[in-house]
Amino acid sequence: MQRLKMAVMMGLAFCATVAGAAEAPATLVLIKGQVMTMNEQRTLAQAVAVRGNRIVAVGSDEEIQRYVGKGTRVIDLQGKTLLPGFIDGHVHPVAGGDRLGKCSTDNAAKSVDQIVKMVRESCMGQGGAGKWIEVVNVNPANFVATAADLDRISTTQPVILAGIDGHTSWVNNAALRLAKIADSTPDPDGGQIERDAKGHATGFLKDSAQSLATDAMPKATNVQRLAKLQEALALLRSKGITTVQEAWASEEDLGLYDSLEKSKKLNMRVRAMLASKVEDDEKEYKRLAAVRNRFKGHPLVRADGVKVFADGVIEFPTQSAAMIHPYLDANGQPTSNVGGRYFDVEVLKRYVTRLDKDGFMIFVHSIGDFTTHAALDAFEAARQKNGATDNRHAITHLQIVDQGDFPRFAQLGVYANMQLFWAVPSEYSVEALKPYISADNYRYMYPAGSLKKAGSTIYGGSDWPVDSVRGDPLPNTPLAATQAGMLRMELSDPDSKHKGEVLNADERVDLDTMLSAYTITAAKAMKQERTTGSIEVGKLADLVALDSDVLAAEPKAIGAIKVRYTVFNGAVAYQAAAK
Ligand SMILES: [Zn+2]
Ligand SMILES: [Zn+2]
Repeated sequence: MQRLKMAVMMGLAFCATVAGAAEAPATLVLIKGQVMTMNEQRTLAQAVAVRGNRIVAVGSDEEIQRYVGKGTRVIDLQGKTLLPGFIDGHVHPVAGGDRLGKCSTDNAAKSVDQIVKMVRESCMGQGGAGKWIEVVNVNPANFVATAADLDRISTTQPVILAGIDGHTSWVNNAALRLAKIADSTPDPDGGQIERDAKGHATGFLKDSAQSLATDAMPKATNVQRLAKLQEALALLRSKGITTVQEAWASEEDLGLYDSLEKSKKLNMRVRAMLASKVEDDEKEYKRLAAVRNRFKGHPLVRADGVKVFADGVIEFPTQSAAMIHPYLDANGQPTSNVGGRYFDVEVLKRYVTRLDKDGFMIFVHSIGDFTTHAALDAFEAARQKNGATDNRHAITHLQIVDQGDFPRFAQLGVYANMQLFWAVPSEYSVEALKPYISADNYRYMYPAGSLKKAGSTIYGGSDWPVDSVRGDPLPNTPLAATQAGMLRMELSDPDSKHKGEVLNADERVDLDTMLSAYTITAAKAMKQERTTGSIEVGKLADLVALDSDVLAAEPKAIGAIKVRYTVFNGAVAYQAAAK
């Protein structure tokens, strides 16, 4: 924030358009605020005028006053912060909406006995005879459950516990039968059916193996899915988010976004990462290009990215993230498990090189250092073949990164998309992880500071619905992540055992890095910095008004700051209830 302080000391620099006395009135004016424009100079201002969906002036209260006319809506910011609308660079609104309102354990650490008891007490009303019993947001860290355990919930109704991380599910025997999972069923590409010493499927399904079960479940209707998606988008807007990078979009999902836009209910900019399989297959390349073309010129939806699911998750007992060195056992001795090798390194290179040539942005899910190294190798191969293409590829998560790879992000122009809300002590990062990887890997977990020092560009993303706490289905907000990135301390979860502890203090980053990671830097990473990401004349009027002054706040208070107004495309799209 050094630059900001300088701007304040030297006197505010304003950037209002040259305006005569009789300026055409604005449709919306926001005044008396601490406007953090997030422009190149990080200029601060007091007020903003909006006409239609564009910002027409930014400046002092006095300068903006003359845009107020008869029909102008005026919002008094009460001295609090106004920022560009937040950009969530990794989120799953369709999947998140689907979980809302379901029987949930809210990510609380629970034993299988506790979950069986909870489900029997409060979740049996779902469906009736033969219908699925579904429990969502199960905390997978150190969680072990077998099909026999879940038969205690029901032997006649299929039961599925869905891990909050999206990579883990546990099912009972009735569900195994419906999913046609037998001991002889092979692991699907990109997933694992856990088996016991005798080769029997245990009921624990990792990564893509989960779809064997979920595909056997009844599908929600289109009307139900649209309603859930709207609910999810409203929740995101209530946290100040005006653009999402949808991180796994099927063609069906894109249809939902499109129909919301057609009925003028979308109120969100959507940049979709298309769901695809890593296969060097001409038919798949053609399909992806056709989907992108369908959305060319769409007012709110772009479909020019491709998601690569390159590994799983790192916590015990799942341990499907691909690691250079094997996972350790509880005594610190190396095991034979190096995680899921879900792709062929050479195929990944060909796939990435081809999609890069076709102009797609590639977004790689990578938790383990083996995967990140392979992804960087693939981006390097693409650059050698195609030259620098400005497709702004990214690797997302980056939990463990080999130190030798830190400088390669800047060298290859690959963005680092991080979920720093997770970079705090928790049962995920401590109990389910610390014993199982080397101290050296642990020291560099979520290496935001090191990556930044090595010149890489970090932008943010929640990966929602991969978080939920008691009383809040979306705790991983840009402001909560900002606090976590600055402090690396757990302060959001009311039930945390790790309050006050710090995870890798050397990897902290500053306020400006975090706020820009959810505004202008995210806009650049998503190639929409000419229209969004900062409060500047001519840009689209996506804004978020907070109930506090971020610059004056203690870092440990930033996560709890609430949104008062979210302005999308020039109109108020969320307004907090009056206190
Ligand atoms: Zn992921
Ligand atoms: Zn994700």
